[in-house]
Amino acid sequence: METLHFMKNAILLLSIGTIVAHAEPLKVLLVDGQNNHNWVQTSPVLKAILEEGGLCKVDVSTAPDNKAPEDKWAAWKPKFADYQVVVSNYNGKLWPEDVRAAFEKYVSGGGGFVPVHAANNSFPEWLAYNEMIGLGGWGGRSEKSGPYLRLRDNKWTSDTTPGRGGSHGAKHEYVMTAQAPTHPIMAGVPAKWMHTADELYDRLRGPAKNVTVLASAKSSPDKGGTGEDEPLLMAIDYGKGRVFHTALGHDTTSVNCVGFAVTLRRGTEWAATGKVTTAVPTEFPTETASKARP
Ligand code: ZN
Repeated sequence: METLHFMKNAILLLSIGTIVAHAEPLKVLLVDGQNNHNWVQTSPVLKAILEEGGLCKVDVSTAPDNKAPEDKWAAWKPKFADYQVVVSNYNGKLWPEDVRAAFEKYVSGGGGFVPVHAANNSFPEWLAYNEMIGLGGWGGRSEKSGPYLRLRDNKWTSDTTPGRGGSHGAKHEYVMTAQAPTHPIMAGVPAKWMHTADELYDRLRGPAKNVTVLASAKSSPDKGGTGEDEPLLMAIDYGKGRVFHTALGHDTTSVNCVGFAVTLRRGTEWAATGKVTTAVPTEFPTETASKARP
């Protein structure tokens, strides 16, 4: 009897703890500082999207630039462990060994990670990072990096055909198709929606382990694409950590798409906590009309 009471109380405390923790903004670390994209413009938009309505509190850690001397790098020690989720808007020089080790420990130990667009171009030589992102592109990626994921008979299938990893055709609006409607990030998201003009990354390849493809888009040969359904939103398990990978978001136009913003918020929340509370707004883009943030 005594034990039962103790257990009931413990469960009650746990529930209250969950509710209290949930009311607090999620602690997010946004990493930027190098990118072949205009991170100076897009990082503030990513931060604003995540902080809207008090969902997140975002701190930014800007890495040294690619000409910085070694002492600048030695002084750059992002405190990953202080955050529930790390969002990367970084594509550049390989992080120092101690930062890489801290990041691997953080994600494998249960930390959340959200690579955005060209963050999946980063670090072709860093195996653990490629396992976190599932698929990546450019940086000399090839069949040596791992397979493509191809939709065959309604199943995402590894394709080891030799060839480049990472490409895209002309920027254009394209229809996103939900692929895992029961996943917490996708529950309530329409089956199809029009994404604002963006690059459509194709032929990404990588270790592709523990990947759930959440949404894809048909890469049109008319626009210089592959004719394949390309995985663009993914959820990846890495150790105890959760990764939400969005290959969308080339520039400020693309990241200002309501579909991008809502999936980023939901994906970041899921990576941080395993749950999603952000509602899908009624002004979500439809299959025929994209929708920009106000
Ligand atoms: Zn781009």
